[in-house]
Amino acid sequence: MGMEVHVELSTATKMFCGCANRFGAEPNTLVCPVCLGLPGSLPVLNEAAVEAAIRIGLALNCDIAPWGRFARKNYFYPDQPKNYQISQYDEPIAINGYLDVPLDDGTTFRVEIERAHMEEDTGKLTHLGSDTGRIAGATTSLADFNRAGVPLIEIVSRPIEGTGARAPEIARAYVTALRDLLRGLDVSDVRMDQGSMRCDSNLSLKPIGATEFGTRTETKNVNSLKSVEVAVRYEMRRQAAVLNSGGTITQETRHFHEDGYTSPGRSKETAEDYRYFPEPDLEPVAPSAELVERLRQTIPELPWLARKRIQEDWGISDEVMRDLVNAGAVELVAATVGHGASSEAARAWWGNFLVQKANESDVELEALPITPAQVAAVVKLVDDGKLSNKLARQVIEGVLAGEGEPEQVMTDRGLALVRDDSVIQAAVDEALAANPDVADKIRGGKIQAAGAIVGAVMKATKGSADAARVRELVLAACGQSG
Ligand SMILES: [Zn+2]
Repeated sequence: MGMEVHVELSTATKMFCGCANRFGAEPNTLVCPVCLGLPGSLPVLNEAAVEAAIRIGLALNCDIAPWGRFARKNYFYPDQPKNYQISQYDEPIAINGYLDVPLDDGTTFRVEIERAHMEEDTGKLTHLGSDTGRIAGATTSLADFNRAGVPLIEIVSRPIEGTGARAPEIARAYVTALRDLLRGLDVSDVRMDQGSMRCDSNLSLKPIGATEFGTRTETKNVNSLKSVEVAVRYEMRRQAAVLNSGGTITQETRHFHEDGYTSPGRSKETAEDYRYFPEPDLEPVAPSAELVERLRQTIPELPWLARKRIQEDWGISDEVMRDLVNAGAVELVAATVGHGASSEAARAWWGNFLVQKANESDVELEALPITPAQVAAVVKLVDDGKLSNKLARQVIEGVLAGEGEPEQVMTDRGLALVRDDSVIQAAVDEALAANPDVADKIRGGKIQAAGAIVGAVMKATKGSADAARVRELVLAACGQSG
């Protein structure tokens, strides 16, 4: 197995021009002559992107090259207006590293890193009119160059051998570890759902004991952690079935489909097809030893080691922590605590209700349209007695539906707990008047009959009254002390 992971850096501007690097803007509004490849325009290297690349290399235990040139990777495709991509070829900025990947069973698996190199992203094509969204059968294709020239780091592993049946699990654990590491470095928002982290997995099979690798396939652009595991497992089984029936594997790239299978794409290009040559418009990158050392000081502790400490702070079991990790909730809970919520409340929301919401809409937890600050605000409303837990769930649903900040959702939906006794009293009087038989029973000492009136009041106030207070007022109105 071999993994190639592309990561978009979250720099303010693009790799070789001053255009803003931002996701989600109107198409073709973040462009200039350089990233549109207009004649006579010249690239200028983004210093922040180089520093981020060096920090990523250091965090992956790589050697940082003291000198290296960019290269032109030539190919014609409409998402690439220059008809070449500026990349690094034989002189990458970072080489020979490794990452010790934590696995679910508490062990680690070392993935060796061949290289991490800098390049620029392409534009984005949207194909309309075909069932699949792919170009085959499309009637119209739209090109958006906002992404063209966004800084990318490609992290290439060495062949990962000997994983056997655990390959899918290890692939997922590796990409998860990489995502957490990059998030910890604060160099990318690593949103797989938005394409700021993309994964290609190479896979080949060989008989046990054989020394030569079999023919490999490359599954492109797998866009969630779950899909990484699914894609590797599918391709393992597919290749095994082909080989077991006496067939041969075709070397090719394959598309991953969300339903969990891969299909053939184009046959794989070789390096010669790209006619790489040194980029003449950019100076070599030659980071000084001082710069590399200064950047080394900024590398934080590995996130999974930091998590061990968090676990002790929160006083939770390995099992609870593993559930939070698997749900992708740890950083979200920690950030929510950072906004003032208790760790118990933050854990309860992210680890239960929001995980359920994420599963319902089939997205990763972090992709839910709610922030840790907003969850902390909901927790505060509950702590202040303005919301019950039940009403808080409705507020969170409102935030997820894009209705605004928690306080606003609470007001707009009329969810705040009614603290005003006169409002509750009016509803109690009305309910008693509407149910004279029940009222008589309570007056006659059948206190348990109060439940029906309490229920009617809760219904009338849409659950916004405090049920215990309602009961007190019902009993008082019927001359009972409770
Ligand atoms: Zn530009």
